[in-house]
Amino acid sequence: MMAAIRSGSLGQEVILIDKNPILGKKLLLSGKGRCNLTNAGDLDSFLKGFSRNGQFLRDAFRKFFNQELMDFFQSRGLALKVERQLRVFPVTDSSSSIVGVLDKELAQQKVRSIFKSEVKDILVKDGRVKGLYLANAEFIPCAKIILATGGATYSFTGSTGEGLKMAQSSGHTIIPLRPGLVPLEIKEKYPEILEGLTLKNIRIKFCAGKNEIISEVGELLFTGFGISGPLVLALSAKIVDWLKENKDVYVEIDLKPGLSRGQLDERFLREFKTSPKKGIKKILKNLLPLKLIDLFIKTAGIDPYKKANQLTQDERRKFVLLLKSWRLAISRARPLEEGMVTQGGVTLKDINPRTMESRRVKGLYFCGEMIDVDADTGGFNLQAAFSTGYLAGESAALS
Ligand SMILES: Cc1cc2nc3c(=O)[nH]c(=O)nc-3n(C[C@H](O)[C@H](O)[C@H](O)COP(=O)(O)OP(=O)(O)OC[C@H]3O[C@@H](n4cnc5c(N)ncnc54)[C@H](O)[C@@H]3O)c2cc1C
Repeated sequence: MMAAIRSGSLGQEVILIDKNPILGKKLLLSGKGRCNLTNAGDLDSFLKGFSRNGQFLRDAFRKFFNQELMDFFQSRGLALKVERQLRVFPVTDSSSSIVGVLDKELAQQKVRSIFKSEVKDILVKDGRVKGLYLANAEFIPCAKIILATGGATYSFTGSTGEGLKMAQSSGHTIIPLRPGLVPLEIKEKYPEILEGLTLKNIRIKFCAGKNEIISEVGELLFTGFGISGPLVLALSAKIVDWLKENKDVYVEIDLKPGLSRGQLDERFLREFKTSPKKGIKKILKNLLPLKLIDLFIKTAGIDPYKKANQLTQDERRKFVLLLKSWRLAISRARPLEEGMVTQGGVTLKDINPRTMESRRVKGLYFCGEMIDVDADTGGFNLQAAFSTGYLAGESAALS
């Protein structure tokens, strides 16, 4: 949409083709329906948000960055707000208002939209774009094509990876697709009991052999099959890669990141002294969510009816260990379909970062999630899609 708008604003005749009956199906889902359209951080924080390939986006960000994107919407009457971690949302808290502005602007720039039409293939002759074929066999001749078909997750939104196949058959290398920002499955059977439990203000550490990564303090969610939530999603791309090489990947949950083991032990001792006859379950109530109490008592192998003054030093230490480094084994990541973004895509080596034009086919441009860049949550992925779309639209119009 942004690519079409930019090309249209430069006086080009533009056709936008989408196989869906409506615009921006994935955009409508984004940010839990509120659309975290960008992040108000500086360029450095953006480049950090893109783990591996962020540098590729420097030119696109220089051309059209977060301030320009925010101005784009605000100058068209949509007020925005900045929330925690500098995440930017429309004040309406509704992604449909973002799509609404884009829709109006497409009309303003006289872009012709064709819906419910699937692009089947692109025609390339002598290293140049000549046109494209729709599923109904109609041929549309054109000198420039901007492929913006997205990744290959949440396929019901239309992102099914067909554009990547077209890129591949026209000579581009596709870096293998893996899920990014994806929930993880665990080997333990806890999920059945813990499903829906959110742990707040905790820290997690993923380990595999000599590798380890430690999260910020934040939230983890138990799902029916394992773990999800912001902390897990943010580190999941790395874990997906580790799981390919190493079967022994685990996570350690620190439920009390503000206290050292020693401090926690002292706290137990103090409590045991002041209430020696208190049952162990009651003592744990002050430290743990209810759903975890029975589980921890069982895991530590302790008689649930013991009183504080009956607990041995060893048993107390077992609790401290569970609270500070509760270990769960990761079995696998959820499938590609469930990733919030796709890792992999058209290799950056085949794209000119100054124009987004293919280095292999003249007149063919790429933008958005189909390129081999992906980022953390926080509005980075959509900013990348808008920035590369804007640059592709401008380059295609001006070249
Ligand atoms: C649940 C969820 C929440 C998210 N929330 C956020 C968020 O809050 N902030 C953020 O920054 N990112 C978020 N993302 C990621 C973000 O939505 C994507 O990175 C972004 O939508 C990618 O934009 P795109 O235009 O490249 O691709 P898409 O948005 O996937 O659009 C691709 C379009 O191409 C069309 N298409 C595909 N193939 C064909 C074909 N052969 N012919 C015709 N049309 C075709 C599709 O129908 C689709 O409309 C979220 C993702 C998910 C799944």
